[in-house]
Amino acid sequence: MADGPFTKTQTAIPGRDWEGSLIMKLQKKIAIVTGAGQGIGRGIVETFAREGADVVINDLHIDSRTEEVKQYVESRGSRCIVVAGDVSQRCHVERLFEETWAQLGPADILVNNAGIETIVPFTELTDEQWDAVTQTNLKSEWMCAQTFCKRLIAEGRKGAIINIGSIQAARVLPGRTHYAPSKLAVEALTRNISAEMGPHGIRVNCIHPGLIDTPMIRWVLESPEILPQVVAQISLGRPGKPCEIGSVAAFLASEEAAYVTGQALYVDGGWVGK
Ligand code: NAP
Repeated sequence: MADGPFTKTQTAIPGRDWEGSLIMKLQKKIAIVTGAGQGIGRGIVETFAREGADVVINDLHIDSRTEEVKQYVESRGSRCIVVAGDVSQRCHVERLFEETWAQLGPADILVNNAGIETIVPFTELTDEQWDAVTQTNLKSEWMCAQTFCKRLIAEGRKGAIINIGSIQAARVLPGRTHYAPSKLAVEALTRNISAEMGPHGIRVNCIHPGLIDTPMIRWVLESPEILPQVVAQISLGRPGKPCEIGSVAAFLASEEAAYVTGQALYVDGGWVGK
């Protein structure tokens, strides 16, 4: 019997299948999220689990935070492993992908989220501080993306990569002459990888978060002087939540974004546009 004007997956009610059940955007997908023990990475993992994905949590160490996130994922009926490792180191990156393939199977989605921020006046910035930020925020994204894409191409599989940048790709904050360039470069990295990987069916996009409530910026959120100054610049008048980055990442990772690649999206409550 014909389905009428809609197919089984294309129905009259957005987000519902033919029988009216909720469609999960990432069902049967396997996602790797770096730096996912807390903050934005954790928000992305939890959103992905709610959307039906199996998830690999990467962070520097296995600890009570990563165990809590793993338990959440499993409570949603998804599979989950934790692979500790420093994604600014090539050997740790290789191991992350080896463990994923061995324990869960080939991944479909990579979220390059791990990042660090330090605040140092330009004239006091040392080589070591420059290198630490650049290697964690930029080189890690390049290495993880390259390792992921090589595997996908060898196996003839498609995939999606989401690189996490920052509002600071477009806004000047004091003491960030190392951090801001690393995040602007993430946008260029995204565009360039997307151009080379498009023919292989691998989409690559970037999210630039604004002020998001995580341990990284707790000092801003807890400062009665600084917080009102920052929030005054945000059209929606509040910091964002990690799950509000998670929902955009889930969209970009899903088939709903099948024709979106090479883009950088500010998810900042209307900060950069104000
Ligand atoms: P966060 O709260 O500090 O969390 C980052 C996580 O990444 C931590 O669990 C950290 O582990 C881990 N990590 C750091 N270096 C790593 C490495 N080399 N390998 C593996 N894991 C590593 O930060 P967040 O606020 O969630 O930020 C996540 C991303 O969003 C970063 O790229 C950041 O630059 C970006 N961002 C954040 C904001 C914001 O307002 N929060 C705004 C713009 C962009 P440890 O805790 O063990 O160090």
